[in-house]
Amino acid sequence: MFRTVFHYILTTLFLPPLIHAQTSSVLIEMRGIEQDQLNGALSLFGDQRGKAIASYLNKNVLIVATSAEAKVLSERGFEFTVILEDTSRRTLFKRALYGSSMTLSSFYHSYDEILAEADALHERRPDLITRFAIGKTTQEKRTVYAIRISNNVAGRQDKPAILFNGCHHADEIMGAEICTALMNELVNKYGSDQSVTTWVDRYEIVIVPVVNVDGHHVVSSGIDPRWRKNTHDTNGNGVLYEYPEGVDLNRNYDFNWAHGGSGDPMSIRYRGPYPFSETENQAMRALADDYRFVLSLTYHSQGEVIYYPWIWRERKAPEDKLLTELANGLGSSIRTMAGDTTYKAEYGAGTVGQSYPWLYGRYGTFDFVVETGKGAHIFPDSDAAAILESNLEGIRYILDRGNGPGLTGHVRDARSGKPLEAHIWLPDIDMEDIQRRTSLERTGRFFRLLSPGKHRLIVLKNGYEPEILPEVEVGKEGWTPVEIILRPLE
Ligand SMILES: [Zn+2]
Repeated sequence: MFRTVFHYILTTLFLPPLIHAQTSSVLIEMRGIEQDQLNGALSLFGDQRGKAIASYLNKNVLIVATSAEAKVLSERGFEFTVILEDTSRRTLFKRALYGSSMTLSSFYHSYDEILAEADALHERRPDLITRFAIGKTTQEKRTVYAIRISNNVAGRQDKPAILFNGCHHADEIMGAEICTALMNELVNKYGSDQSVTTWVDRYEIVIVPVVNVDGHHVVSSGIDPRWRKNTHDTNGNGVLYEYPEGVDLNRNYDFNWAHGGSGDPMSIRYRGPYPFSETENQAMRALADDYRFVLSLTYHSQGEVIYYPWIWRERKAPEDKLLTELANGLGSSIRTMAGDTTYKAEYGAGTVGQSYPWLYGRYGTFDFVVETGKGAHIFPDSDAAAILESNLEGIRYILDRGNGPGLTGHVRDARSGKPLEAHIWLPDIDMEDIQRRTSLERTGRFFRLLSPGKHRLIVLKNGYEPEILPEVEVGKEGWTPVEIILRPLE
């Protein structure tokens, strides 16, 4: 009885301050952990395991756990070192992902540094590279830039366009580095390297190193290395960077938007209140409308895998054979960090509101998500350098592969000769899952990668007689040209 009362008094005396104190968390490191051991340790965290693990590199795992969770791990026989204890999980993640400096390594670029490099290249070769604004960020109104590289960059050209983009997700910063390295590579080696010269002569190459400029700032300036979404103040309290608020820019595109991500603003996959609610996505839409890219690489981290369109319920993409060939070619050209194998190609879902189903479904762009590296989002310098180098090989594959075989042509008005935006319909391939492909209004031009052989082509435009080409023979190499003249209906 006495003990119970005593216990009661103790509890009432000591419980209130304990409740009000912030629980302390710890950053712990376990060394030499195999994947199955790691799974065992992480089972403790249930569906929060993704939020607990900071990185798993070279069999060393960094975990942010509450003191109670660390105690359970210890009781279960896991040996670990406590690196840091703090009441702020953000602080522990900074220590885990930035290292002891608690700030991002200078290996990585800030957005201003990326733009400064583009400007320095432009200064030297104004004929080859230019940068232009494509929009503003949703929350902080920073300008989002694209960089265009071609052999006559002053004006727009009538050539196939290829897109490279990074950092829809702010913490997946390798994408910005790969895009920056690519820009330097193309301009610096033009004229001396035969392949680079061919690519720059052949294409309009557009690079958006950072789609999520506000989020990239949060990660690159050392505020929070976990930041994934944009910085949209989704709870509207006027306070920025309250992890995990914001909109997932890779769930905000309008192709099957409602089926992807989460409707919960505090989910790390929050798709936003409606499709294209975010101005970063609007900027990408304007760019895609203008260029109708033939190919695109979209960089994320991590997993050493290529995702491509698509499995949509049971159905594959209309151009599955060709997409699979390219995805496999791309994957097998990029070495993994372990160096013993290459990236795997896997179907992505058609129903996610991400960039690849949107670019493919709406525009016919073959967009491949490249999940660079494995075990972290932010990599130590030496790993980052190796990931960068191996991914440049993937880019070489894509730039070689973007020159057909395929069909290209112009659509023009028979009377005025003016270019026309018309439907380019391949009825034996195109299904209703995808939006009808069109020629560009500005030039009447279209490009379509195709397998060599005979294809049935129908060109349609309201107010014009349809043009039917029952057998167009696409050659084994390069672009097979067709010129389409549409006659207005009387
Ligand atoms: Zn991502």
